[in-house]
Amino acid sequence: MTDVLTPAQRIAVVDPATTQTLGHVALASREDCTRAVAAADGAFASWSAVPVVERARLMMRYADALERRHEDLATSVSRENGKTIADARAEVRRGIEAVEFACGMPSLMMGDALPDVARGVDSYSFRKPLGVCVGITPFNFPAMIPLWMFPLALAAGNTFVLKPSPQTPLTSDMLAEIARECRFPDGILNVVHGEVAAVEALIDDPRVQAVSFVGSSAVARVIQERAVASHKRVQALGGAKNFLVVMPDGVTQPTIDAIMSSAFGGAGQRCLAGSVAIAVGNAADALVPKIVEAAKALRLGPGVDPGVDMGPVISAASRERVAKYVERAVAAGARLLLDGREAPRTGSFVAPTVFDVSDTASELVTDEIFGPVLAIVRARTLGDAIDLANSSRYGNASSIFTGDGGAAREFASRIETGMIGVNIGVAAPMAFFPFGGIKDSIYGDLRCHGKDAVAFYTQQRVVISRWPT
Ligand code: NAD
Repeated sequence: MTDVLTPAQRIAVVDPATTQTLGHVALASREDCTRAVAAADGAFASWSAVPVVERARLMMRYADALERRHEDLATSVSRENGKTIADARAEVRRGIEAVEFACGMPSLMMGDALPDVARGVDSYSFRKPLGVCVGITPFNFPAMIPLWMFPLALAAGNTFVLKPSPQTPLTSDMLAEIARECRFPDGILNVVHGEVAAVEALIDDPRVQAVSFVGSSAVARVIQERAVASHKRVQALGGAKNFLVVMPDGVTQPTIDAIMSSAFGGAGQRCLAGSVAIAVGNAADALVPKIVEAAKALRLGPGVDPGVDMGPVISAASRERVAKYVERAVAAGARLLLDGREAPRTGSFVAPTVFDVSDTASELVTDEIFGPVLAIVRARTLGDAIDLANSSRYGNASSIFTGDGGAAREFASRIETGMIGVNIGVAAPMAFFPFGGIKDSIYGDLRCHGKDAVAFYTQQRVVISRWPT
């Protein structure tokens, strides 16, 4: 079908490592989006009537099928996103875990019961699905983030329309193809491709009941406001600026490895990427040279190639944006310890870049750069480090590296982020816990997966009954 489309009707998907076109997807018109919602709406009555045990069984089949296609999915993620194949495999694993969590829906959806709340009166609560749910996802986790959304929504009895990132849409098509092979009933899962117009058409459709969004904060806010304006339920996870606090006793090889993975994994394009390392007390003396040495040793290349530690950023535009941040920081006096701008120019590569920063008002400390740029700053005490991290408008994740339980406890209790790591560089909650931040890192309150997602994709009802005796 895509072969007969004119360029205006399709989106080209570019391999960021080579700039070659990997394929095309059809660009959905407003009418296509309306049709997708109509299909989901038409399927809702029969799908929501399927017993939850059978819906869960379908998710079990889906999890098995994803497992069999694990390597194909990882290869697709690595090609269209650029991340290393090892990272892509781990991403698919996290996504499958979310489907496995959805398989527990019969117990996750259970309500409460209390007989004799008054004389002869019993009460119980139960959960019902909402109807048509929409998911809008970012480029950086093309498999995992869609899998955070539709399996849980479907297992709860909803139907779904997914609008993935136009930069990494091919993996979503593969997820839908695997769903078809598992004989998902017609209409329960629909994928449309597009940008702003498609998102607006989906959010504005009165048949849509709930919107799940993951992406940048600016867009998360727009999505939330638009969805709330038409009284829809919305969870909109936004951007991040994550701080890694290193105590003097925390400068160990596992810490350095964790910082490398946090700052440069996925080329710094994770919402959990640690992009500011705060060295407390005299930690900087040992930390700075070790970080520079380890970052220098990272091997750059196409993510699908074996032995590569870091792939490209998503696009030439991203590379230019990151380069401009580096330029401005240098002009403002930040000390550039490792310059990644000299990376090969054929793809969208930026090599690991490390700054020593004394001005904590620097953009390197305040902005989500979303590239492989690590700023190292210094704090006199743990309290100063926490204050600096808490001054960020974002509140997604943070980590502390230490062998001191008291310091870790103080950090966990005072730091203002939704996800907190102790000697963990990428503090990603697993599927049975909620994933999300606070402050400008989320618009809406319920987060992705875990019990939050069950609450998000269902509506509670309470029955109070009295029978003649
Ligand atoms: P993005 O906000 O540009 O796009 C996300 C989605 O929104 C895409 O599907 C895109 O097509 C759509 N979109 C873009 N502009 C829009 C607009 N004006 N109106 C309606 N829809 C629009 O994000 P991205 O560049 O794909 O992803 C990177 C961002 O996602 C980073 O900020 C990162 O921190 C964030 N992210 C957050 C989490 C989290 O859990 N909080 C997880 C992953 C990524």
